[in-house]
Amino acid sequence: MQSAAQRIVILGTGGTIAGASTATTDNVGYKAGSLSVESLVRALPALAELALETEQLAQLDSKDMDHATWARLAHRVQAHLARPEVAAVVVTHGTDTLEESAYFLQRVLAPAKPVVMTAAMRPATAIQADGPQNLMDAVALAREPGARGVLVAVAGQVWSGLELRKVHSYRLQAFAAGPDMGPLGVMEEGRLRRFRAWPEGTALGLDLLPQDEAWPWVEVLASRAGAEARALEAWRQAGLDGLVLACTGNGTVSQALEPALEALRAQGVPVWRTTRCAQGAIVGAPEEAGAALSPWAARVELMLTLLAQRRRRP
Ligand code: ASP
Repeated sequence: MQSAAQRIVILGTGGTIAGASTATTDNVGYKAGSLSVESLVRALPALAELALETEQLAQLDSKDMDHATWARLAHRVQAHLARPEVAAVVVTHGTDTLEESAYFLQRVLAPAKPVVMTAAMRPATAIQADGPQNLMDAVALAREPGARGVLVAVAGQVWSGLELRKVHSYRLQAFAAGPDMGPLGVMEEGRLRRFRAWPEGTALGLDLLPQDEAWPWVEVLASRAGAEARALEAWRQAGLDGLVLACTGNGTVSQALEPALEALRAQGVPVWRTTRCAQGAIVGAPEEAGAALSPWAARVELMLTLLAQRRRRP
């Protein structure tokens, strides 16, 4: 018999894990976010004995994830975690922006209970769908004694929400951790074998998130061969709030962008550097906030930094 404190809430947001295709052999021509989270759970008889509840928070292809949905997700996760009978929350999500949502949730909530995100690379209708095992692993990880923070369980590997990077467009094992970090652990027959510490950090808190105001406008721009400043100039004139540079190599930027970057900085718009390399940090810049983050995580971090500044303003 389950004790009340072992209840797990599974929040559905859509993604390929809830995707459906008309052909079982089709792993790419499907519609993400077609099946309810309740039906995904019901399809797994092994979960029937557990004290689970499901909630359909959204039904999106995660390429369309937006800030308003993030805010709703963070509030719902927090509300469920605050219930004494709830041990953990599992979130089903698309793989495309999973790293952004995971980073966002960890920075805003830094939960003391586990929040396990999971996803799939193949739709639920595929002959060898990966979603069912991933969901099983996510629930098992959520029940792991001592687990905490935002974790991601996909393809038998467990990642820290602060480090996740999608590195493959098709393979089932589509994730890695940056910069140069491995998985936090692996799932083996429903048990975690852990290599490293749980995600750390202080929660920025839900109060930071905009209610009626707009979210800060932060873009990512890559420096590249033949770089041009035209897009940057247009963004500056349109009121860009912050810029993340996906720099070449160890944080270098084409000189063609420099005058436009100077104009941005002169207006007080923060410009953060990251590397566009798939791995590694900007070496020699430990004081720079984005130096060890992917451009996508840095964009979230800069947005949260700007929100914190907004809150401090009288
Ligand atoms: N486009 C899908 C999504 O991110 C891809 C996936 O889930 O694998 O929702």
